[in-house]
Amino acid sequence: MKSVVIDKRRDKVNDECGVFGFYNNDDLDIVSITHDALFGLQHRGQESAGITIIQDGEPYTVKDLGIVSTVFDEKNLSKLPRGKMSVAHVRYTSHEYLDRAATQPLVMRYIEGSLALANNGAITNFAEIRSELEKGGAIFQSNSHAEVIGYMISTHRIDSESIEDAVLQTMDDLKGSYSLVISSPSKLIGLRDPHGFKPLCLGKLKNSYIISSESCVVESLGGEFIRDVAPGEMIVIDDEGFHSYFCKNKKQTSLCLFEYIYVARPDSVIDGVYVNLARRKAGEILFRENPVEADIVCGVPDSGLDAAQGYAAESGIKYATAFIKNKYIGRTPDGVGNDKKQRLLKTRLNVIKNIVDGKRIVIIDDSIIHGNTSAHIVKVLKDAGAKEVHVRISSPEFVHSCYFGMDLPKSEDLISNRYSEEELRKLIGADSLKFLSIDGLHEIAEGCNIGLCDGCFSGVYHADKPKIIFEDKFANKIKKF
Ligand code: SF4
Repeated sequence: MKSVVIDKRRDKVNDECGVFGFYNNDDLDIVSITHDALFGLQHRGQESAGITIIQDGEPYTVKDLGIVSTVFDEKNLSKLPRGKMSVAHVRYTSHEYLDRAATQPLVMRYIEGSLALANNGAITNFAEIRSELEKGGAIFQSNSHAEVIGYMISTHRIDSESIEDAVLQTMDDLKGSYSLVISSPSKLIGLRDPHGFKPLCLGKLKNSYIISSESCVVESLGGEFIRDVAPGEMIVIDDEGFHSYFCKNKKQTSLCLFEYIYVARPDSVIDGVYVNLARRKAGEILFRENPVEADIVCGVPDSGLDAAQGYAAESGIKYATAFIKNKYIGRTPDGVGNDKKQRLLKTRLNVIKNIVDGKRIVIIDDSIIHGNTSAHIVKVLKDAGAKEVHVRISSPEFVHSCYFGMDLPKSEDLISNRYSEEELRKLIGADSLKFLSIDGLHEIAEGCNIGLCDGCFSGVYHADKPKIIFEDKFANKIKKF
């Protein structure tokens, strides 16, 4: 078998962000609620975290690079007032573009006061819009798409009747993906792009309102899920309740299917589909499409676990826990040697030897990007005495990149474009290797009430790709941390 260099960080798909907003009608402890909510969204981004509280129209912000537990402490949280609204954010970004100035919520001053913005997504005409604004004299602090969106809203506000009109006009100008929470001095606004690439939902806690990337947060706060924000919809919350508006820009809807496979938390429901059930169904279909004789079925934590249970139920093969995940280890830092990376990977995911020794194992994982993690998993299972290791992947092969906010490598760097399935099987050292079909992928989201995106698997995108990648130029100008 060829040797592989372990780089766990780049061997998983990374989502860009999680967003949250709260409109406080009950004099609740808004700081504590918002802080708790960010813990519930931490899986969507671990590079930075931030909370803005709006009290009497004025924003107060705590944000920094790091995960929620390191960014916030009693001291900085106690400085935030118990205001009327909050906007909060967790962010993932590739290290190349890590830019402290882009940490969100982004607070900007405009004609009526302050806007706070928290965004999840990638604007595909970002370079064109920004360049036009710069030609008009605009100066930007960061490489953030949210900053450009804020600038557009403030510009449109000059000629429009209300903040609602200004945001709707901005939505008509934007292309690509965005799920945003914005506060004006007196209103909380949630909007989702016309394709609906990223999830966004509305909930209620007593008489107060929640906007969140995922429904699991609404429930964990003790609130009640109202509904998803529809593609192209803007929800505006004020003292009268919530109001719905739609932008003119109608598009084919296209929710990211990878939300169901990997990104979202299993206890969320997105556009009518329970994430845990979708994952379980992926395992059931995977067995029907790719059966194999084995003694036990195991999942790679966390997103492989539901799919493994589905595979076990459909096949009648016993389900077992083969790996224990250490959740307290952060990402592998840049620059550490391969030995250290191997050790960290092993510590992060440790095999239970007595479960796998002498067994024929089906191991279910969510995806293969470079193959490093799969090779590592097969190796540790075999080192622990597994007789056979059959790898089943609960998504199709990644053969195209993503332009809509998921940090996938360029097509040419995806391992499925460099090796056939059989070559890849040999490379990772498995006894067999099979992927979910694209038809199977759509079947897992049966009942989803909007259209679906499978672009990175099929090459068919329902939105235009960006014509210019602005960051390629910009990345040369910013310093790495
Ligand atoms: S291209 Fe893939 S990762 Fe990107 S939005 Fe579509 S399904 Fe999701």
